[in-house]
Amino acid sequence: MSEHLMRTALEAAACGWHVFPLRPGTKRPALHGEAACPGTGPCGSGHRKWEQRATTDPDRIRATWERAPYNVGIATGPSGLVVVDLDMPKDKSGSDAPCGATTFAALCERTGHTVPDTYRTRTASGGEHLYFTAPDGIRLTNSAGRLAPLVDTRGWGGYVVGAGSTTPAGSYTVTDDMTPAELPAWIVRLLEGPAPRPVAPFAWPTISGSRTATAALERECRTVMAAPEGEGNITLNRSAFKVGRFVAWGDIARHVVEEAFQGAGEARGLTAAECRATIRSALDSSIRKARPRDAA
Ligand SMILES: [Zn+2]
Repeated sequence: MSEHLMRTALEAAACGWHVFPLRPGTKRPALHGEAACPGTGPCGSGHRKWEQRATTDPDRIRATWERAPYNVGIATGPSGLVVVDLDMPKDKSGSDAPCGATTFAALCERTGHTVPDTYRTRTASGGEHLYFTAPDGIRLTNSAGRLAPLVDTRGWGGYVVGAGSTTPAGSYTVTDDMTPAELPAWIVRLLEGPAPRPVAPFAWPTISGSRTATAALERECRTVMAAPEGEGNITLNRSAFKVGRFVAWGDIARHVVEEAFQGAGEARGLTAAECRATIRSALDSSIRKARPRDAA
């Protein structure tokens, strides 16, 4: 047994985090999988996986960690946690791919937010885990790369290796020891709902209008199709607004602009109805506010 790991598990449980044992020196659960279920003990009335067996009960934790120096798994779902996992590129040598911390910071900046302050650990591989309390009434599961490249999240169905655990790659340590903050609403919005549809192929409609207007429309449609994850709608709104003045000036027909943006928005994974509503309101607003061309 290891006093240190037992204490780590008990401390995590005292925070209300549901812990379970990971095989010593690894990140893999020490509890049997469904295929190897003996159907006895805790599984007497059916197999219970680590998420269901994870506990905050100090007696059960002592009994488990007395047996071996298990690493500490924290089941994020029952713990009421969502952990943002900022990973390192797999190939550290010769690759200048940005790490998860960099892509997450870029996401925060692009969406006008600061990187949230919260309980934070450094992982054995040099990545980081940001712990947040889960939003009320929303059941977030795991995500991979949905927020940004090399940024995953762990919720229901997921777990993290707690600080104090050690693998051959190194140890997990606390780098910011504070109470976990609430998961920011803007991150919740990016995570909830079904996974975005894959980007569909896009066929350019025939575009007629003045040269400046058609160039602007093509440029803005490309911007919409390249919009970052979770920003399709706001980008569509902004781009349609920019092109609206050409409609107001009579340089290009409104239906041509609508058709092009509709295709671009759907290619970006937005629903047809969402595109129609956003394009209509952006164009209405832009046309209403357009100043005469010579004043623009
Ligand atoms: Zn079982």
